[in-house]
Order: sequence, then C-alpha cells, then structure tokens
Amino acid sequence: MLIGIVGALEGAKVFALVRPPGHHATRNRGMGFCLLNSPAIAAQHVLDCRAASRVLIVDFDQHHGNGTQEIFYHTSSVLYVSTHCPHIFPGTGSMEEIGEGDGEGFTVNLPMSAGSGDVEYALVYRDVVLPIALQYAPDVVIVSAGFDIHRYDPLGRMDVTERGICAVVSTCLFIAEQCCGGGVIFELEGGYHLDALARSVGAVLRQMLSEHPSPPEHFVPEMDEKVPPSVRHLKEKVRRTFSQYWEL
Ligand SMILES: [Zn+2]
Repeated sequence: MLIGIVGALEGAKVFALVRPPGHHATRNRGMGFCLLNSPAIAAQHVLDCRAASRVLIVDFDQHHGNGTQEIFYHTSSVLYVSTHCPHIFPGTGSMEEIGEGDGEGFTVNLPMSAGSGDVEYALVYRDVVLPIALQYAPDVVIVSAGFDIHRYDPLGRMDVTERGICAVVSTCLFIAEQCCGGGVIFELEGGYHLDALARSVGAVLRQMLSEHPSPPEHFVPEMDEKVPPSVRHLKEKVRRTFSQYWEL
C-alpha cells in the first residue's frame, strides 16, 4: 500500500491486491477479518510526509468501514465517503455520523438499502459521491474496494453486478482524473465469492487501463429511466444533512 500510494501521488492508477482487508481495524484493534487498516495507514503516511493535504477515501464495501471512519473522525484532511448496507456488522455508519470538530462534515455515510443493485449504486455515485468529492478536490484518492456488494457474494445483501461495479469505479477514476492527475489506489477489501471476485477485479483493472473513464450511464444505461424510491430518499436526506458543508 505504501509503495502504491506514492505511485498514486505521482498520477499512477494502482490496485493493491492485499489480504487481509483493512477498513474495520481501528488504531489499536483488529476487527472483522481486518488486522491493520491499510487504507488509513496509507492516508496517514502521505499526510505525515506532507505529500498531500487532502485525501479522499471512498469505501464501497458493503460493510461500513468503522475503523477508517474512527481514525479520521476529527480531521478535515481526510474525507471519508462510504456506501454500505446498514444494520449489519459492524453496526456503525448512519448518516448522522458526520465527523466532529475539524472533521465535521468530512465523514459522509451513505447507507444503501439491502438489495440495492446497479442502478442504485450508479445513481448514488454520480449524483452524491461525485459532486462532494469534486468540491473537496483531493490530492489523492484511495478506494476501499469491497466486492461483497456483488449479487453472488455469500455474505452479501446487495444485488450489484460487474456493470454496477464499473459505474462505481469509473466515478472514482473520474474524480482522480479531475482532481489528482489520475492518481488513485484501489485496495482490496471484502469479496467472498471467488468467481465473482475475479470477474469484478478484472472489470476494475480493465477500467483502469482505459485512457479516460466512461460515465456511469455507459455501464448502466437504464439508470435514469426511473429513480428508485430508496435513492430518492437517500438524496433528500443527504441534502438535509450536508447542506451546510457541501453543495448538492
Ligand atoms: Zn465487507
């Protein structure tokens, strides 16, 4: 991760195929398959080296990254944005958890309804994650890439296919292209159906190899046909919760 983040700072697109995953680990405790919080260590490293002053961490694992949130809860130097399934392990990640002190408004939790699929994810990433991230204008992007959102995942509650994953990933790549000369590092979080995991990671790598990221509607063309009520409610709640911090 540390070598990768240095590459990302120089504009490289990196995928860190690490195990175990990291986002549940706190500063002093391993949790939920995670021993060391590698995305948080990478973010803190570049901040400590003054190689970056603003780090965006996007976390699309279906579980909330409680460790990453906790570690950066009081700082504006890291914007943590998470889409996850609420009411499952580890139990954190409500939208009301927005950060404290200097970090107020810099934790953005976007709980997705169980069963959310390609359309829901494509809409939330294009219409919520993207505008907030562009306003933050990070120096580098770290993505906690959890493939347990895949519909075949044995621990999963979501209904996402490779198309939805491409929509999410292309949004992250677009943010990096706009803000950091393309620099981004994906870090492998969950994903427990090995075939689905392999196909999903392969789809991400193909996106990373393309010269410019395609918009989410390229992968999920039906995304604007009818906005699902769960996404409408989420967007309304985001506007109410974050209107004083972000323009939406
Ligand atoms: Zn997970």
